[in-house]
Amino acid sequence: MSDPASLREQALSLLASGRATSRADLVEALQVAPSTVSSVVRRLLEEGAILEEGTGVSTGGRRPKILRLREAGGVYAVTELGARHARVGLCSPSGALLAAEEFAVDIGAGPTAIFDEITRALDDVRDAHAPGQRLLAVGMALPGPVDFPHGRLVGPARMPGWSGYDVQSDLIDRFKVTAVVDNDAKAAATGEHVTRRATGDVITRRGPGDMIYVKAGSGIGGCLITGSQVHRGGRGLSGDVTHLRVADSGERECSCGSRGCLETVASGSALARELAGRGLPVTGTRDVIAATVDADPVVVTLVRQAGRQLGVALSGLVNFLNPDSVVIGGSLSSLDVYVAAVKGMLYERCLPPLTQSLSIEASIAGPDAALIGLGHLLRETADVRPS
Ligand SMILES: [Zn+2]
Repeated sequence: MSDPASLREQALSLLASGRATSRADLVEALQVAPSTVSSVVRRLLEEGAILEEGTGVSTGGRRPKILRLREAGGVYAVTELGARHARVGLCSPSGALLAAEEFAVDIGAGPTAIFDEITRALDDVRDAHAPGQRLLAVGMALPGPVDFPHGRLVGPARMPGWSGYDVQSDLIDRFKVTAVVDNDAKAAATGEHVTRRATGDVITRRGPGDMIYVKAGSGIGGCLITGSQVHRGGRGLSGDVTHLRVADSGERECSCGSRGCLETVASGSALARELAGRGLPVTGTRDVIAATVDADPVVVTLVRQAGRQLGVALSGLVNFLNPDSVVIGGSLSSLDVYVAAVKGMLYERCLPPLTQSLSIEASIAGPDAALIGLGHLLRETADVRPS
């Protein structure tokens, strides 16, 4: 059975597409109990994401109430750009993710070439999943420091040609609609928080509280959510865990120009480099994940060490901030051994009263976290924009 967060997204998607217009339709489409559908629908009505009106055609018994999205028509286009891939998707005006697709890119090709590719991919996904629907706004998440809400990259490492690039203006010029640009870890943390809040409301009535989110992929991004808001800091550049200095790091040179950063030992690209150096056929994070899933003992040991190094870095943050939850996202979070090593090190290094009530888990929003977060950001932006 699907978890409540995905039930919520599926219900919104069914209502947005018109494939379901009542609770009965949702029960049939989702194959869950009527009481489960009722609680999901009640929550969506409370949020104002959907409306209930009139009565539909009865199939015997009481006539069903018609359910529909609050704002009919139009979609948001959302994109997450990684070092080697881009993920594009569409969100409904309520922020629900309707479709997502991924394709390979090389971020080193620079902004113009990459944005041409993304524009084509977004046109394709709109033609396939929302033909004729108006484009309401676009959102983009980037793997570097973003000056939010101005949408400009600030000195990103591993992104030659991107520093100072005004991503927001480029998107507005291309699509002629409002654009929102955020750092990928912050967008993913927002998506994770929204997903967990929905889940908590259905199952335990308890939300995620103050949350440290780590996006562990080729690089390592971070974000603190406190009081349901992203903590951005003075210049909006908070959450940089990747250049925290860790002990036993071998003093390797980092992409930031310094030495001994977390990124040099605990990231997907560090693991790939290490394994390639040992003669294994590994070129990127995906190969590292595949080799770990194959239970190659050398790889599993290195991945466990990487998780422990991340745990060491996070333990200082947990002791200082006393969050309710630590969530590990990004592609490495699919590896149980990595998440377990982070968890073990946090229990070892943090004060017991802090870990007693601390939830440490892998992301439940998964690879779509950043796209879901962008949908939420765009909906919030639309809510404050005068119509
Ligand atoms: Zn560094």
